[in-house]
Amino acid sequence: MSAVLANRVALVTGAASGIGLAIVQRFVAEGARVIAVDVEGSPLERELPETDTLRTVHADVTAVDAPGDLLRAAEPWGGIDILVNNAGICLPGSVFDQSDESWARTFAVNVTAPFRLARAVAPAMRDKKWGRIINLGSIMSDFGGPSLCAYGASKHAVAGFTKSLAVDLGPFGITANYLQPSAIWTGMSRPFMDDPEFRAYWEGKAPVGYIGEPADVAGPALFLASDEARFVNGMGWRICGGAMARF
Ligand code: NAD
Repeated sequence: MSAVLANRVALVTGAASGIGLAIVQRFVAEGARVIAVDVEGSPLERELPETDTLRTVHADVTAVDAPGDLLRAAEPWGGIDILVNNAGICLPGSVFDQSDESWARTFAVNVTAPFRLARAVAPAMRDKKWGRIINLGSIMSDFGGPSLCAYGASKHAVAGFTKSLAVDLGPFGITANYLQPSAIWTGMSRPFMDDPEFRAYWEGKAPVGYIGEPADVAGPALFLASDEARFVNGMGWRICGGAMARF
């Protein structure tokens, strides 16, 4: 049986930890060649030593040159087939205390960088008549939350942007979808998880009875990146153990 992502080249942002790291490991295991990008160089190199099928790039996805640099990094492998816009930040703030700076930085990382990367990879995907774009939304792409003004707005923007991508790119064999995790054990969620009430809330709310791991998001990402998912386009998938199905 051939590997699901044999002969595919993937670009995964925010690859040094959490969900991005799990996606890189899963994609490599399924035969992809992966360019793994993160703004934090040391954890990236520690977690993902380079191999014949894995290249790491220490870069800030918001940098003006980032899309061009990453396209060039993929050139020796024939360009990017799968883009996973996973890098994201959560800078908590309510309408009373969210600063202009934290709002702007949230949108730069969570929305503008995914847009600029999608714009960079789309022409070659169109020429190949095959491509996959997977953006990381959140259940906050559908709902609001306490002190998540900028984060919630940015994840709603990811939903709208992805649906527009799906419409524009579908005619060329390119799909665009977004994943919507609830609370998942990662560095981003750690400060929230340290609050026993928060943890108990999510353990209780999810009918499966536990909080998800990064690998629980990597599996759905693998499916969306595969040939099997060619008719799944413009969708947001809640990866929440059923938490959001409960009234
Ligand atoms: P994480 O903090 O563990 O990983 C995010 C990675 O992105 C880090 O390695 C970080 O260095 C990198 N990064 C941040 N800014 C960057 C930049 N400008 N350029 C390049 N890399 C950058 O967080 P995570 O939980 O794995 O989050 C991954 C994605 O999943 C995010 O988009 C997040 O919003 C989304 N998400 C996470 C959860 C959760 O509970 N963990 C829930 C819903 C959605």
